[in-house]
Amino acid sequence: MSLSLGFSLSCSLICRCCRNLIDSERQREAAVTAMLFGATRYAVCPSCKQEVPREQWDRAYKARWRRAVKRKQTQKERGT
Ligand SMILES: [Zn+2]
Repeated sequence: MSLSLGFSLSCSLICRCCRNLIDSERQREAAVTAMLFGATRYAVCPSCKQEVPREQWDRAYKARWRRAVKRKQTQKERGT
């Protein structure tokens, strides 16, 4: 009970993939950066489209990143 209360009290969203705060202004910035530099592996979170600093690229993040990208590709192929 106390666990779900803690989550609902937080007004900011945390991305499930990169664990960063989801912030719409940063999202726009990251989208532009991604276009300029091309799709750099791990540099942009596939879930929230935000830039992810290199120091956050640990093994767990990379695993989540690959899973998220795979999921997106599968969704595209199925057309759902
Ligand atoms: Zn993210």
